[in-house]
Amino acid sequence: MKRKGNNIGWCDKTANPVCGCPNGCEYCYARSMNNRFHWVPDFSKPQFFPNRLKEFRTKEPMIIFIDSMSDIAHWEPFWITDTVAAMVENNHNIYLALTKSYVAINRIKRLYSDSIPCPANFLIGATVTNNAQAQAVIDAGGADFISFEPLMERISPDVLCSLRCMWWIVGDLTKNGKPQHVTRTDWIEEMSEQATAYKIPFFMKDSLEDRLFCFGSDLRKEFPQGWKL
Ligand code: SF4
Repeated sequence: MKRKGNNIGWCDKTANPVCGCPNGCEYCYARSMNNRFHWVPDFSKPQFFPNRLKEFRTKEPMIIFIDSMSDIAHWEPFWITDTVAAMVENNHNIYLALTKSYVAINRIKRLYSDSIPCPANFLIGATVTNNAQAQAVIDAGGADFISFEPLMERISPDVLCSLRCMWWIVGDLTKNGKPQHVTRTDWIEEMSEQATAYKIPFFMKDSLEDRLFCFGSDLRKEFPQGWKL
């Protein structure tokens, strides 16, 4: 089931208080969108748009992805503080962020530990595309959830065992919305089996839909327990 209002599939909407990212990933969709719409003059220099926090005011509870146009690791501390304050005001939603700078996960969560606790509905995941990154997540102390997108190589079962968390998402590399078949079906099948064994909800993105004949059933589109479907 595609979640309403976006093509990401695992969230109800995106709300991006920050635009721009210095990571320079070759496959960055956000940068190409910015090249088209010019939200910021230089995508490698993130900017804060506090008025976009109004988008957290939803009537219905939603899963909101807050950094599809940035990487939260590169946000200024006060951008995070203001964003978390808006989350607290709108605590009926679940807020998800992703990062490729894994040490930032605990650093951001620690920002709140002395005064106010980091809200339970604010979860920071790691984007992992290969074994080296997977090991780096483990070395950094883990993440709330993992997005294996685009999955560029088979992740070793031992490494996966140490990456147990609340949710795994997996998807192929896409270009202009089309899957590039970089992610092999047998890698996904193996990961799916491990997810089942570890009782981890497993979400397969629509970029894997043309392999349905291999999986023999619908794509698994599971969410952590208690999240609205
Ligand atoms: S981390 Fe995300 S936003 Fe940043 S360059 Fe890579 S794909 Fe783009």
